Amino acid sequence: MQAYDYIVIGAGSAGAVVANRLSADPRRSVLLLEAGPASHPWSWIPVGYAKMLTDPTVNWLYGSEPEPGTNGRRIPVPRGKMLGGSSAINGLAFVRGQAQDFDTWAQMGNPGWSHADVLPFFKRMERFDGGDPAFRGQDGPLCVTNPPPNDPLYAALIQAAAERGIPHNPDYNGATQDGIAMSQASIAGGRRMSTARCYLAPIRRRPNLRIATGALAQSLLLDGTNCIGVRYTQAGALHEARAGREVIVSGGSINSPQLLELSGIGQPQRLADLGIPIRHALPGVGENLRDHFAPRTRWAVGKLGITFNDRGRGLGLVAQALRYALTGKGMLGQVAAPIRAFVRSRDGLAAPDLLLGWVPMLTEPGPRGPRIAAQSGMTCYAHPMRPESRGHIHITSADPTRPPAITFNFLTAPPDAELTIRAIRIARAIMTAPAMAQFQITEIAPGAPQTTDDDILDWARRAGETTYHPVGTCKMGPDPMAVVDHRLRVHGLTGLRIADASIMPTLTSGNTNAPSIMIGEKAADMIISDAN
Ligand SMILES: Cc1cc2nc3c(=O)[nH]c(=O)nc-3n(C[C@H](O)[C@H](O)[C@H](O)COP(=O)(O)OP(=O)(O)OC[C@H]3O[C@@H](n4cnc5c(N)ncnc54)[C@H](O)[C@@H]3O)c2cc1C
Repeated sequence: MQAYDYIVIGAGSAGAVVANRLSADPRRSVLLLEAGPASHPWSWIPVGYAKMLTDPTVNWLYGSEPEPGTNGRRIPVPRGKMLGGSSAINGLAFVRGQAQDFDTWAQMGNPGWSHADVLPFFKRMERFDGGDPAFRGQDGPLCVTNPPPNDPLYAALIQAAAERGIPHNPDYNGATQDGIAMSQASIAGGRRMSTARCYLAPIRRRPNLRIATGALAQSLLLDGTNCIGVRYTQAGALHEARAGREVIVSGGSINSPQLLELSGIGQPQRLADLGIPIRHALPGVGENLRDHFAPRTRWAVGKLGITFNDRGRGLGLVAQALRYALTGKGMLGQVAAPIRAFVRSRDGLAAPDLLLGWVPMLTEPGPRGPRIAAQSGMTCYAHPMRPESRGHIHITSADPTRPPAITFNFLTAPPDAELTIRAIRIARAIMTAPAMAQFQITEIAPGAPQTTDDDILDWARRAGETTYHPVGTCKMGPDPMAVVDHRLRVHGLTGLRIADASIMPTLTSGNTNAPSIMIGEKAADMIISDAN
């Protein structure tokens, strides 16, 4: 039996941060368990996300259950599985969300989570050159960059949005989110800024921190209602580690509820049906699943030399590789969707409720995952930012290596369907604005015949996928369906917290990596202050 003060399970966006901050004091010993490997050659290069999207060595490669709301399809649910977790395979867009997202969390009964409360943690984690220092951090571990809109296509999109009444916002992570902007990126010097790179690499030699990779947590060790450690496998051997102070579960929105259920924490009948002895009844485990269901509209571009389909194939790809090698820039060094717009579905709203993101290329399915299509074009995903449809994640077996069943229930809440249609119509309006005419653009999907709301919704059900932002399955709150309290302690147990995207009670307005890192920062702060 190994003994530590703290055990952190999962070295992803949040877990790597918790391990870093806890082990900053040499008097605290920390074990960090990660199921995946230390790294992957493609995880350093931004474009590597396309390679790792289907690579089982660093991706859990989950999929949803077939659902009527998405035409009986299984929706892919990629999740990072290495140091850095999903921050090591993601699309690198850096989006905090809106102030009202966090104010809502506080209003739901979570003191300490209002925007004013979490802003210091957002500032602490980042190093951003420029922006208003009232909102932006300058000396944190994670370098965030903001590329200029110097490509003619991006400049035209900003002009097209203006023609539709959507302003240019140079810093959507600042005072207000509204408008169209180049995507801020967790990229610096052409390299991915994962939490492995920014929070773990600099501290890997701390003698009081042990990082175990290839180590799969199988169950939590409970002594009555006190969590005292974890049982895990590494290199085929079973181990147990004991935590003198606390265990922090940071396995992400799919694996954290899975580990709780495997440990007998969850819905009694469900666990009994699988032969798992119930240790602590907690009905909210695995419930409240939310994600961004984001249909990708597709556009053909007639003018040559504009898109990555023209610039990123054959000799063009060689040129891009050379450019990246020499400058760290170009197609290989970019965020997945380089330009985005936060827009309102109708006048009178207090804040944007829709997100549109553009990728300057078309992809097609290939034998080893998506690949650049021969046809030149653009993709624009469009979706509501705070969907109301909720699903669940539950284990189907007592075997920790079996994937859980993921049910999203996408588009079941009527506002989500209505806002999805509206988002697609706004994407159309921008793509057909006068400023875009120079590129000779024609709509491929949904396709010009899809004109009625029903046509558009039907297409969305047949074609939509997510932007990979599952949250909420170990919800924070004071209500009976909450799993953790506002200090991220599991209700009814001691010695156990959860710190990752699963604790979000609602989805933030945008991508979820920055808020997950913020959760890691705030969790560590609370753990240290509670211990003191
Ligand atoms: C393909 C993709 C693209 C994305 N694009 C963006 C983007 O552009 N911008 C953005 O902001 N967000 C993006 N996201 C979402 C964002 O990356 C996640 O919301 C965020 O990383 C979640 O952080 P987390 O700490 O909750 O979990 P994760 O970062 O997923 O970390 C969980 C870690 O725990 C480990 N683990 C799980 N179970 C166990 C176990 N039993 N034992 C040991 N270890 C375990 C996992 O291997 C993983 O390393 C994307 C996600 C994906 C998958």
